[in-house]
Amino acid sequence: MTHILHRQIHGTLPVAVAGRGVELFDRDGRAYIDASGGAAVSCLGHGHPDVIGALHEQADRLAYAHTGFFTSEPAEELADMLVANAPTGISHVYFVSGGSEAVEAALKMARQYFVEKGEPQRRAIIARHQSYHGNTLGALAAGGNAMRRAQFQPLLAETQHIEPCYAYRHRRDDESEEEYGLRVAQGLEDKIQELGAETVMAFIAEPVVGATAGAVPAVPGYLKRVREICDRHGVLLILDEVMCGMGRTGTLHACTQDGVAPDLMTIAKGLGGGYQPIGAVLLSQAIFDAFATGSGLFQHGHTYIGHPVACAAALAVQRVIERDGLLENVRTMGERLRSLLAERLGPHPHVGDLRGRGLFLGLEIVEDRATKAPFDPALKLHARIKQAAMARGLLVYPAGGTIDGARGDHVLVAPPFIVEDQDLDRIADRLGTAIDEAV
Ligand code: PLP
Repeated sequence: MTHILHRQIHGTLPVAVAGRGVELFDRDGRAYIDASGGAAVSCLGHGHPDVIGALHEQADRLAYAHTGFFTSEPAEELADMLVANAPTGISHVYFVSGGSEAVEAALKMARQYFVEKGEPQRRAIIARHQSYHGNTLGALAAGGNAMRRAQFQPLLAETQHIEPCYAYRHRRDDESEEEYGLRVAQGLEDKIQELGAETVMAFIAEPVVGATAGAVPAVPGYLKRVREICDRHGVLLILDEVMCGMGRTGTLHACTQDGVAPDLMTIAKGLGGGYQPIGAVLLSQAIFDAFATGSGLFQHGHTYIGHPVACAAALAVQRVIERDGLLENVRTMGERLRSLLAERLGPHPHVGDLRGRGLFLGLEIVEDRATKAPFDPALKLHARIKQAAMARGLLVYPAGGTIDGARGDHVLVAPPFIVEDQDLDRIADRLGTAIDEAV
């Protein structure tokens, strides 16, 4: 009997009691390779001594000081590091406790920016179908996952949703990836024209879509065109890198690979690597200046923003990644894992697509490879794959995908950056068997 309202009420969950490196252990002594890091959270794996040391030290010295009264050393140092490594134009950081909070804050920053600039009529948000930006009301309103939104629709602020960049399903045979990217980006131009540019505040998108689609990267040129369109119309570009950011794709920020810098960027998961709940918004100099020369404040704030222990943990995580050259490992191990998965599952009659970047890979499960028809959602294949994998000691994330508005089955593989060759073999092998068993 549990008194916790768990995500799923029926069934029992194993009790996690320990984590070391790429493995988690439950109370019954079972070991699991953590090949999804929760949902792309545990970038350093579990029990990293440097992070644990930093946590102890900070908790010992100062656990909490309200940000209305004080700043703190770990928060200042982390902000310096994040800005030093940020995309061009980013000058400041706003700390929060997770991804949804980061999206809420970014949307409010966008709104306040235009109010400060004397353009209060700019309030429309454009986002994409098949996106996930979090579960709080503002973030859920921005997200385009029909299933997650459905029953809360009456509480959600109006958001305009346009087509996602989803080459596997929507690229025509007669167009290149680049041509497809330009065609989808034109949807943003059309929507801005339809609404009237003077009413549009921001466009928000994940450079590599995670939770709703299983690691779907933008095709080359798409984000560049999106950036141009936003610039032409004075619309802010918010890139949500909560899942795909902080090194997961092989560069610190996924958008670097697209040659694009946002006005606002949200980060979380890999920032603290699961050692503490922490997220952040990175904002441009222009937005900071509008606040600084205007009202002199950002009208927002939560009790735990800039929490010293959370910042100390994130600082330690990011220092280890830098010191140990782990982004290089993400790139080489990502390539190897992709080849192993392609070898083991490429010919599988129900694996329609294998995609992603770095150690952020997704598989799309289909009933028919030729027509790309998904399985009947009632079969809940993504959940069956997760269970079959768990029974074999492997954790992969069943991305709750939507395919053109309907539920599809996707599997997300996102192991820690410290993963080694023998782990990759075990991941590919166990996942292959789990898919064979479940499908
Ligand atoms: N944005 C993206 C792209 C995400 O993938 C997620 C979580 O999966 C969120 C926002 C919300 O983050 P959190 O669950 O930390 O609130």
